[in-house]
Amino acid sequence: MGGAAVLGVGTFATISGTPHPQWLSTDWGSDPWARGSYSAIPPGVDEAVRDTLARTIVAGRIALAGEYANPDNPSTANGAYDSGRTAAALIAAGRGSSAIVVGAGMAGLGAARQLADWGIDVRVLEARPRIGGRILTSRRLGVPVELGASWIHGPSGNPLVTLASEAGLELIPCDWDNRSVRRCADGRDDPAAATALDRLHGLLDELGAASPPPAVEQSVSDWLGERGWSRSGSEAWATATAVEQEWARDADQLGVRAVSGGLWLGGGDDLIAGGYDRVPALLARDLDIVLSTPVARVAARPDGVEVTRADGVVETADSAVVAVPLALMQAGLPVVEDLPEATRTALAALVTGRFEKIVLRYERAWWRGRRVLGAVPQGDGPAARRWTAFYAHEDVAGAPILVGLAGGTAAATRPSGAACAAQARRRLQDAYGAI
Ligand SMILES: Cc1cc2nc3c(=O)[nH]c(=O)nc-3n(C[C@H](O)[C@H](O)[C@H](O)COP(=O)(O)OP(=O)(O)OC[C@H]3O[C@@H](n4cnc5c(N)ncnc54)[C@H](O)[C@@H]3O)c2cc1C
Repeated sequence: MGGAAVLGVGTFATISGTPHPQWLSTDWGSDPWARGSYSAIPPGVDEAVRDTLARTIVAGRIALAGEYANPDNPSTANGAYDSGRTAAALIAAGRGSSAIVVGAGMAGLGAARQLADWGIDVRVLEARPRIGGRILTSRRLGVPVELGASWIHGPSGNPLVTLASEAGLELIPCDWDNRSVRRCADGRDDPAAATALDRLHGLLDELGAASPPPAVEQSVSDWLGERGWSRSGSEAWATATAVEQEWARDADQLGVRAVSGGLWLGGGDDLIAGGYDRVPALLARDLDIVLSTPVARVAARPDGVEVTRADGVVETADSAVVAVPLALMQAGLPVVEDLPEATRTALAALVTGRFEKIVLRYERAWWRGRRVLGAVPQGDGPAARRWTAFYAHEDVAGAPILVGLAGGTAAATRPSGAACAAQARRRLQDAYGAI
């Protein structure tokens, strides 16, 4: 299953013969073919860099695709898919009859599917032994659990809604209001934290709609600070939950344009039930995909493109779409020859954030129908900003499962394996008396 994205999997203890609970944690930060979770805009960077990347075309033959190259819906699976289709249109304008796509994530598969539907002879080269990239469904806890993308952010007009339906998957709307927020110190309700979270969502909506947008140099922290928002206490907890676990960066390292740029599709958030990996599988049907084949170099020549695989084999076609993650582009894996200067600058300007999950499977759903379980630890450091909220998945996964999140530094500095799972479980024990 491409285990590099998994930090650990295990069981805490056996009570009456039942594992109780089981856990699984992700590690996208050390995954060699992702090197983080998804792209983000740091302070000082304008969101227009994503336009530059989306419009890049080298010698009329090579286009770029990926979540990072989508100006409208960046950092999402639907944004990646749309970006692949945009890149396909860019190279198809050159009217070649063959194409190579590098990377079989949503962007690469979106591009390849589109090219194949247009009758172009397409081959996909993928570094991993599997397709899907940052869509990764694990069944190690007995039911499908999403280790990468899981939410459809804004179902209205979202192409993933159609794809999920064609793949036979169910969408479950998230009821964010059905929540509880409790202090880890004494297990009591924490109305200050709950109020802070509501207020922060209001402020982020205001920032998202700001016209004209705020000064590009500002961080989200700066902007919030000007509105009296504190970096400690309940407000720090809310920031971890609503900013760091959404944009995968600490608020002081997240540019204000990350929030004010891009479109937001309406309709709330849905979770995909039944295994998100069936969406890439649907797109990949009948495509020529070569797995376990990293690409080292992509170059335009007068009569086509040369794609050099890491094993030294050179493949040729009329054109190519390079659909690898931002961090791989920045590392020159592959090197794309003759990228315009503006594209190189845009690539260097974006960053890749950290966002990790902990999945806990219990014997029974002790949370009594609540959808969101907020846990407010003491202190303000990275440890206190990790596993601050858990999302109930029993209707999505068909088993009593909670998924906890960590973003930014809190994700990057989490303990490894079993210690990470023990910390998350402890949060729930302290706040809810969970077993
Ligand atoms: C933990 C987590 C949670 C997320 N949650 C959500 C969510 O709820 N909703 C949402 O919409 N999005 C979410 N996302 C983001 C979403 O998963 C990504 O934006 C999207 O899947 C990226 O697609 P992509 O095609 O751009 O990149 P990828 O999926 O990473 O695909 C790129 C492919 O290129 C391959 N590759 C890399 N280098 C090479 C090379 N040199 N040669 C050949 N192949 C190469 C990789 O192996 C990979 O398969 C989440 C991501 C993470 C990590």
